[in-house]
Amino acid sequence: MKNRIPFNKPFIIGKELVYIKDAVKRGHISGDGYYTKKCQELLEKKFHIPKVLLTTSCTSALEMTAILCDIKPGDEVIVSSFTFTSTALAFYRLGAKLKFVDIDQQTLNIDPRHIEKAVSKKTKVIALTHYAGVSCDMDAILDIAKRNNLFVVEDAAQGVNALYKGKYLGSLGTFGTFSFHETKNCISGEGGALLINDESFVERAEIIREKGTNRNKFLKGQVDKYTWVDTGSSYLPSDLIAAFLYAQLQNMDKIHRKRKRIYEYYYKKLKKLEDKGFLRLPIVPKDIKTSYHIFYILLENETVRQNVIAYLKSKNISAVFHYVPLHSSPMGLAMGYAKGDLPVTEDISSRLLRLPFFYSLTQKEQARVVGDICRFFGER
Ligand SMILES: *Cc1c(COP(=O)(O)O)cnc(C)c1O
Repeated sequence: MKNRIPFNKPFIIGKELVYIKDAVKRGHISGDGYYTKKCQELLEKKFHIPKVLLTTSCTSALEMTAILCDIKPGDEVIVSSFTFTSTALAFYRLGAKLKFVDIDQQTLNIDPRHIEKAVSKKTKVIALTHYAGVSCDMDAILDIAKRNNLFVVEDAAQGVNALYKGKYLGSLGTFGTFSFHETKNCISGEGGALLINDESFVERAEIIREKGTNRNKFLKGQVDKYTWVDTGSSYLPSDLIAAFLYAQLQNMDKIHRKRKRIYEYYYKKLKKLEDKGFLRLPIVPKDIKTSYHIFYILLENETVRQNVIAYLKSKNISAVFHYVPLHSSPMGLAMGYAKGDLPVTEDISSRLLRLPFFYSLTQKEQARVVGDICRFFGER
């Protein structure tokens, strides 16, 4: 039996362990230490963001956006059903009514035509996900938001270092959120960031992140004692996490280049299967630069997908499906949604397969994955 090729593998690329040691030596391993500030500055500079705050996860960054948008019971939030729970859950927790809308066939991102139809007097936020690190149609979405006075939250968990018409994902909405979970492009085990593009939210964000206190103002010497002033939670990561992350962020472009090579190899080698009609490859519209976060193939139907998964598994290769649509999950059904409500999402979700994709994936391993997929279809 050949070696197992996992779907994902965490990696170290630079001075991660050196920086962790240094953080300990500095005597500050709780939140907002030396490395947290270094990471935040790096992200602000690289992505042109007025203010970045590191968080314990993308989920906590999304929770912070829901608080900052002042979500109250009955407010409506428009969200894709083809996303991770956190994008929707962050708003649901505060009582929002979720309006799930369908995705675009080509990019698998929320479809602006459906957003337009879902807007009502109660709509407060469009929460969008840049699937696979390929940008949503931001011109159309920002136009709808502007005309209806809505907040735009970009879940850019997968879109770190990706561009829409020359602008970085996460910098286009009111807020953006990143994930540094070990399955993402730049990692720190668990971790995330809140990107604040409207500076009027910075002060409140700092309070929410620090258990509802004005501790940050106190540390800056702006008040002489700190106290409870607002709602919040503990959303700041340990500086040990930030130390690990800083080494990854310093190598962000190197990670990007490597993932681009992996992506392009899959694309080139599987093109002939697409030409013969066995599968569809990812589509990246012009004007958009992807983060190369996911390489997926769309198969003919769910049965073929199950067979491909089983075949690859027999060859010791782990390929996995992705989101079960949120509207047809037990939670979605309890909200009154039904199977059949969002046909594109349901169709795509039943046929999509993600191939192994991680920093240390070798070309020899990739050749095995491609070879076995070709063999499954009787091609060589
Ligand atoms: C990974 C992911 C998240 C969750 O990120 P965490 O950092 O694990 O909270 C949220 N949204 C999307 C689209 C993701 O891919």
